[in-house]
Amino acid sequence: MTTNNPKAVIVIFGATGDLANRKLYPSIYRLYRNGKLSENFAVIGVARRPLTNEDFRNNVKKSINGLNDPNIDPDEFASHFHYNPFDIQDLDHYGKLENLITELDEKHQTDGNRLFYFSMAPNFFGTLAANLKSEGLTTTKGWTRLVIEKPFGHDYESAEKLNNQIREAFSEDQIYRIDHYLGKEMVQNIEVIRFANALFEPLWNNQHISNIQITSSEVLGVEERGRYYDSAGALKDMMQNHMLQMLALIAMDPPIKLTPEEIRSEKVKVLRALRVLNEDNVDEYFVRGQYDRGIVNGEELPAYREGNGVDPESNTDTFVAAKLVIDNFRWAGVPFYIRTGKRMKKKSTEIVVEFKDLPMNLYYGEEHETKSNLLVIHVQPDEGITLHVNAKKGDYSAASTPITLSYDNNSGDKMNTPEAYEILLHDCMRGDSTNFTHWDEVALSWKFIDVIANAWDNKKADFPNYESGTNGPKEADQLLARDGFKWWDITPK
Ligand code: NAP
Repeated sequence: MTTNNPKAVIVIFGATGDLANRKLYPSIYRLYRNGKLSENFAVIGVARRPLTNEDFRNNVKKSINGLNDPNIDPDEFASHFHYNPFDIQDLDHYGKLENLITELDEKHQTDGNRLFYFSMAPNFFGTLAANLKSEGLTTTKGWTRLVIEKPFGHDYESAEKLNNQIREAFSEDQIYRIDHYLGKEMVQNIEVIRFANALFEPLWNNQHISNIQITSSEVLGVEERGRYYDSAGALKDMMQNHMLQMLALIAMDPPIKLTPEEIRSEKVKVLRALRVLNEDNVDEYFVRGQYDRGIVNGEELPAYREGNGVDPESNTDTFVAAKLVIDNFRWAGVPFYIRTGKRMKKKSTEIVVEFKDLPMNLYYGEEHETKSNLLVIHVQPDEGITLHVNAKKGDYSAASTPITLSYDNNSGDKMNTPEAYEILLHDCMRGDSTNFTHWDEVALSWKFIDVIANAWDNKKADFPNYESGTNGPKEADQLLARDGFKWWDITPK
């Protein structure tokens, strides 16, 4: 059952951390400002450091700097926030937390609803879930939900172990696994573009589409996250979750209804239809890369192996490109090219759908500049859609030239475009799990990715193999060239 102005006590574990300060408090403020939270809410910040309520509220006010609405008194907003010093490992601390939740539930009339947000290192997730249950915090007269951050395991085995631990304390329908890409406006727009337009869905198959490309590139390197990243890499940090989720949304069949269960069921079918690779053929389908030094915006930047917390001989991938094959009736014969990497030429996430040429196009020849029709979905930093078509050149000839039709989602009042975490928190509080990943999706993604990760673990790469500030190793271009395609380098619009 969903309501628009949900009531709850939100307990944030990891309340002094980076994510809480940069994303969660601003998101709660935006929801409050936009009337998406009733007055009936309280936030309990949980972490080890000995902060007072006043310190904590000052941190929260700092985190919403720049978003302030003159109609909202920041002190009044911050008065909903309470701090509870707490060590996850110490069972004696749970009783005090339970008392505080009960007290705030009564004070703010939140009907016994509890949202636990695990925003801390993943090695705590299992213990924390178990302790919440054993100490009685998961039992309440209202609803109890758990939002859990990524990464959800580092391979199938660890993900399954974590899932089993969490499922001891929470049922699947209480678990909201975050993939913040699913909260992005243009990722959520994929379904609307596909299923609300007579123009696209009839063409959305191997009869009319030649290939689909999904790119998520960053200009930044691993910066201060070297220690974590060196044990993960682009394959596990990006491909297993965000990239495969976007692929599933692009490739799924229309669900019979827009319910979380029906949508998930179609996404799961895509993941099940992914052609499973083996150690011998991984190199035909996957390219890995690691950035070397390079000049970006006039500044000479160090190689990945020279970064903080990174092994100087590291074999970790900072770039992955792949050709994925979906063995089903709709997509047989259509390659999906996916790439993601750090220290690339530009920051951009976009999806390019390339349509097949007409069987007989009269506008080919020297005087014509006819190009493939493309539908481009710009996910970030630009948000919008561009349709590339051909039209008459504005001159005396009858020659053709490519033109674009664009929709810019940023052109309105950007202040009103909800942020990913804001949408996801709101969805969770309303009990809508559509934009969260179900265990079935996590399990299938890891099983697919494990084959590649194992093959790579068994064979040392020749790294570094791409210069900072470029589009990755040349092998990533050859992956498409072998099939007669090239990466479309679209942004800026
Ligand atoms: P972080 O800055 O390292 O924060 C960790 C938090 O955990 C701190 O508040 C820390 O506070 C608390 N903590 C550590 N040990 C504790 C214990 N024994 N008992 C209670 N609290 C403890 O981490 P983060 O960057 O915010 O990331 C949080 C989660 O979000 C991770 O799962 C991460 O993978 C995920 N994530 C983060 C980002 C991001 O942009 N930061 C993006 C995507 C996903 P004390 O030291 O005061 O205890």
